[in-house]
Amino acid sequence: MSFVWTFAEARDGKLKQVSFELLARARKLADQLDTQTASVLIGSGVSDDVLQELIWRGADNVYFVDDPRLAEFTNETYSNVLADLIAEWAPHTVLAAATTTGRTVMPYVAIKVNTGLTADCTELSIDPDTKKLLQTRPAIGGNIMATIKTPDHMPQMATVRPKSARPLPIDKARVGKIQRVALKDHLVDERAQVLGFRSDDGDFENIEEAEYIVAGGKGLKKAENFKLLRELSALFGGAVGASRDAVDRGWISYPHQIGLSGKTVSPKLYICAGVSGSIQHLAGIKTSEYIVAINTDPDARILSVADYGIVGDLFQIVPRLTERLKEEMSPAKAAKTVGAE
Ligand SMILES: Cc1cc2nc3c(=O)[nH]c(=O)nc-3n(C[C@H](O)[C@H](O)[C@H](O)COP(=O)(O)OP(=O)(O)OC[C@H]3O[C@@H](n4cnc5c(N)ncnc54)[C@H](O)[C@@H]3O)c2cc1C
Repeated sequence: MSFVWTFAEARDGKLKQVSFELLARARKLADQLDTQTASVLIGSGVSDDVLQELIWRGADNVYFVDDPRLAEFTNETYSNVLADLIAEWAPHTVLAAATTTGRTVMPYVAIKVNTGLTADCTELSIDPDTKKLLQTRPAIGGNIMATIKTPDHMPQMATVRPKSARPLPIDKARVGKIQRVALKDHLVDERAQVLGFRSDDGDFENIEEAEYIVAGGKGLKKAENFKLLRELSALFGGAVGASRDAVDRGWISYPHQIGLSGKTVSPKLYICAGVSGSIQHLAGIKTSEYIVAINTDPDARILSVADYGIVGDLFQIVPRLTERLKEEMSPAKAAKTVGAE
């Protein structure tokens, strides 16, 4: 069977959102190849109810290699397991997310199964003539998009940027097969052991998962002015993002950086102030549902891609926006609105 596989990721018994994004990609490719999709999960203690969502989101098959020895990710064992499955089932294509896990494990797998790998793709399609995978990713500082092929080796393998595709909506009518696969003892490499897991609790916000983002760039002039954005984003439980220029100046830490060399985000609403809209920044925001840009320069590139552009000084506009939203969200206003109905 020449399936299109995705390498799913889970933490604490829950699937990561990126697993569903990959399936949206895989579904499209499998339809072009007239074949099936399969999601491979390596880990421990994920219930069938949780795995079912992979089927509702586009998987025809789910292979779960479930063993307590796989509870924590170790590159040595995970790459052995995935390479072994690939050797046995010979899928046509294997996709993983360009997350820390995906970026770490896939080069090892590629070596073990003797094929190529394109990292950090933003577009994928099937060449109609050769039926091979066309793997597109930004190159040369994001100034061009390069399409890369692996002409002579199988499977076709790529990692895909998180948030570069939206998951398919849940379809509870979809049926598929969940298969638990036993871990082969000889695949466990005990040279590396995980002693514990501690999440980064410093200046960290999970901007990749945020539904609302308020971001700032060089136009903010200094670090302290990020507080204007924090105040606005806090009103709707949003996260704060930044351009690379703001990060390079030390105004905010790297985990907030959005763009080619930062995070790709896909919020419902992306508000940015004092960001010019360089091609590298735009690469990280193009799947946002609505973009609102505030800039003094009417010719700034960001205004040509924004759904709503406000030409003006962010130091006047952002506080006014915050005040107006506070008024709109105040209990007195809410009571008035209800009373008017
Ligand atoms: C390999 C490579 C990777 C890169 N990766 C990234 C990346 O991941 N993310 C990223 O962002 N960049 C990235 N860059 C950098 C990118 O090319 C730009 O330099 C950067 O995005 C510019 O940041 P900026 O928009 O904050 O600054 P600028 O381009 O200087 O824009 C500042 C904007 O603020 C506006 N402004 C000034 N004052 C005000 C005011 N009072 N009110 C409103 N607006 C105002 C100005 O009109 C201007 O448009 C990368 C570059 C390279 C070469």
